[in-house]
Amino acid sequence: MKTRIAVLATILVALLAGLTFAGEWIYLSVLGLDPSAFPLGEWTQKLAPGASKAIGGVVAGFGTILLIAVAGFFVARGGLRADARDRGEVGNVPGRRVFLVGAGTVLGSIAAGVGGIWARAGRGVGTGAGGWQEPVGEIFVKKVPETHDRWEEIWKGSRVERYGRLGRTEWPVSDIVVGTGPLRGEKGADIVKLALERGVNYIDTSPDYSEAGSEQLVGQAIRDFPRDQFFLATKFCTPLGHLPPGTPVSKYKQVIDESLQRLGTDYVDLIHVHACDEVERLLDPNVHTAFDELKAEGKARFLGFSSHTPRLEAVANAAIDSGRFDVMMLAYHHGIWSHLDDIIARARKEQDMGVVAMKTLKGARHRDLVGFEEDRGSYAQAALKWVASNPDVSASIISFYEMQHVDEYLYASGKGLTAADVAVLERYDRKIVGTYCAPHCGACLDACPEGVPIPDVLRHRMYFEDYRSERQAIEGYAKLEPNASACAGCDAPCMGSCPVGIPIQERLEGAHDLLRITA
Ligand code: SF4
Ligand code: SF4
Repeated sequence: MKTRIAVLATILVALLAGLTFAGEWIYLSVLGLDPSAFPLGEWTQKLAPGASKAIGGVVAGFGTILLIAVAGFFVARGGLRADARDRGEVGNVPGRRVFLVGAGTVLGSIAAGVGGIWARAGRGVGTGAGGWQEPVGEIFVKKVPETHDRWEEIWKGSRVERYGRLGRTEWPVSDIVVGTGPLRGEKGADIVKLALERGVNYIDTSPDYSEAGSEQLVGQAIRDFPRDQFFLATKFCTPLGHLPPGTPVSKYKQVIDESLQRLGTDYVDLIHVHACDEVERLLDPNVHTAFDELKAEGKARFLGFSSHTPRLEAVANAAIDSGRFDVMMLAYHHGIWSHLDDIIARARKEQDMGVVAMKTLKGARHRDLVGFEEDRGSYAQAALKWVASNPDVSASIISFYEMQHVDEYLYASGKGLTAADVAVLERYDRKIVGTYCAPHCGACLDACPEGVPIPDVLRHRMYFEDYRSERQAIEGYAKLEPNASACAGCDAPCMGSCPVGIPIQERLEGAHDLLRITA
């Protein structure tokens, strides 16, 4: 009897450990936190100096289960001895019996622990979210900017040093390409011109960037360049936002005609289904009919999509399976959800899609890193080199909105990731723990009974505080319905739903104060 209790108790403890902290550590490890986030994480990391991810969570999670299993062996042996004493048997319990019961306990505990880990990390059991199985949510940003505090002499005059291939479009794309989300004023056109002169050959714009101002400035910039020397991408949307599924074909075509007018060109190379967070919009027959007609008319060459929140995996897989898309643009940066690599690889392998990585700066908090960048390198350069280290990624998009960006970002072109870069990225990760809302997560989406779009609120706070795009943040926040005003006085059932430990209520109330008052 005591043996049975000992064995069952051990298995139960292993299961509970897997379902709670061990599963949580492993989940977080895969989400992309840095070593400092885990018990003995930095020490563990030294055991695997070449590892590209923090292994602390995985080691701590599985190590805990193993320890419980080993302890279970001795507990079971104690149970066997106690039962033998209760039966009045003298001497040791036969070794074969100890071995069989002990091994059964160890294996049972490991199986239960791993099962618990899978339930917690893989399926989100107990978290109110979907775990890895449901990597929903995205905080798509239209720009990924920031500027180093010093315009280093060594960066000046940097040019594109590497060209790749944008999938089946066959475009020999520069490894760093221009995002134009925050482009404003005459300087904006000069920046794009300089980037083109320095070898960038892909420009991404959209009607809803700066309320069409981006397209107008890009139009000014490209006037003096031969049209076949750069690849131009825009989006199916209006200056005010996205077109919903079911939008008439004529409207889809009209917005592209308007884009062409602003851009001053006869055709765009690529049209994205913009910020696509639902399969219905991705596969809207009208958008595909419109694209086919635009292509036949010579106004567009390729179709792509960029993924917004939530449901990235479903959207990306549907896009791949449809065979309709030539390019995809996804948030991808150091420490991101590792399954994204599989999705990207599948897009490349099965459809030969071009893959453009966006949001490469993981939140643009690096202004605060300046004090400890010993080598005076740029966080942005390190982040760009990290993205470029995935051969399945065709190019990194980053917003250029200061002249310095041309030098700073292009200095990373063609360069490999160094140990110093990795150190900067790890410091960055430590900096943002507890505040950075991870792309492709969305684990809190079902936790709010008020339906507050938590990631969107946090995204606008990030625009305001980190990107210093106050106007964009305020305007975007004003469109949210409901917004974070619902958080005041709420019992906060959302608490604990965030796998990276963001204190959601506190952050959302702060966002509301910031964005509402300033408005
Ligand atoms: S605190 Fe805010 S986000 Fe959290 S449950 Fe309440 S209303 Fe929703
Ligand atoms: S707040 Fe936390 S749980 Fe919600 S989307 Fe962001 S990282 Fe995920």
